[in-house]
Amino acid sequence: MSLLITNARIIDPSQKMDKVCDIVIEDRKIREIHAHGARGRGQGTKGNKEQTPAGGDQVIDAKGMLVVPGLVDMHVHLREPGFEYKETIKTGTEAAVRGGVTSVCCMPNTNPVNDTPGITEFILRKAIQEGSCSIFPVGAITKGQKGEELAELGMMFDAGCVAFSDDGRPVMDSLVMRRALEYSRIRNMLIISHAEDLSLAAGGVMNEGLLAVTMGLRGIPAQAEEIMVARDIALAELTGGRLHIAHVSTAGSVELLRTAKKRGVAEITAETCPHYFSITEEAVSGYNANAKVNPPLRTIGDVEAIRQGLHDGTIDVIATDHAPHHKDEKSGEFDNAPPGISGLETSFGLSMRLVDDKVLTIDQLVEKMSCMPARILGLSGSKGTLKPGADSDLVIINTEKEYVVNASDFRSKGKNTPFDGWNLKARPAVTIAKGRIYTWE
Ligand SMILES: [Zn+2]
Repeated sequence: MSLLITNARIIDPSQKMDKVCDIVIEDRKIREIHAHGARGRGQGTKGNKEQTPAGGDQVIDAKGMLVVPGLVDMHVHLREPGFEYKETIKTGTEAAVRGGVTSVCCMPNTNPVNDTPGITEFILRKAIQEGSCSIFPVGAITKGQKGEELAELGMMFDAGCVAFSDDGRPVMDSLVMRRALEYSRIRNMLIISHAEDLSLAAGGVMNEGLLAVTMGLRGIPAQAEEIMVARDIALAELTGGRLHIAHVSTAGSVELLRTAKKRGVAEITAETCPHYFSITEEAVSGYNANAKVNPPLRTIGDVEAIRQGLHDGTIDVIATDHAPHHKDEKSGEFDNAPPGISGLETSFGLSMRLVDDKVLTIDQLVEKMSCMPARILGLSGSKGTLKPGADSDLVIINTEKEYVVNASDFRSKGKNTPFDGWNLKARPAVTIAKGRIYTWE
């Protein structure tokens, strides 16, 4: 099958491209990008707008639309195996393509934990059978995510894991984290840190401060995150390992990363999530469990620092930390509700607000949501780019069209979002992933 997308404004930071062109896709690969009307295969019929490609081919007219490389989401919880009532590989990737995401990294806190090559292979098999987009498993750093003994990182890497993390939990033991980073250096593997000092967080359920006191809830200080960000930067310096800090939520973390990068510490990268630059702790007022996340939503000062960190390049990546939960789990006591937001279907719209607010240019946004994560994960030959030969993963977006978020319409099983009812714009109209075309508008 071949596909021609015409009249598209293509934004592809991986080749510094922002121009109106046609794209030719063949056999699930980008074949070429050329001036509008200039026919592929060297036939040179430039300017003929009526022209359609040879028989059997398909054409999408993307006039007035934006075409960008498919989004690469480094931080997603697909919940399978073990928690299929929250989400499955099938429903999670359906949510992904609805949100313009064509590659997801799935975190290992499933049941069983993805800490052996057998589980990694199970996920990859299911991904081929049931996934709407590409899936790249993240393996556990430690066996059972218990933080005690390193898992079989090398074997899982060989089985297809693209990174390692105990996400959901920190690796509290500094020596274990040191060993993981040392090993990561030898095999050029990425270690993703869920930065949280558990003893300082001490069972807190929201940001520590006046609001927590008023609500009678136990708070988590910003320092619970920052202590671990500082520790892991120090360990990356010690080992030369490849460190990526997940879901940065505080001004102090941004500053630690900024100074570490200025110092030229090995290879450190960091991500934040749309909720950390869109809303504050006020969102949990009224004991709204759909705004309960870990790390917790912080203050307006933190939100501004995160935005500044995105703007100046301290924060490299926007990921969702898509964490779907069942309705019943989120509707009980705030204290007992599991943390997390179902984020795949609102991520791009929320992030586009950064462009409206002049925090990022559209190029920088695409860089942080597609090209950069692909590069960090070692996938930049096939993902996060529209260069000829890359996978034909792309999104066609009507950037002006507004819509109202309706959680009950989510493809994800998780309807847990504090953004229900929000007005957003720039929802993907067409997503192309794994050679399939998904059209909504
Ligand atoms: Zn986490």
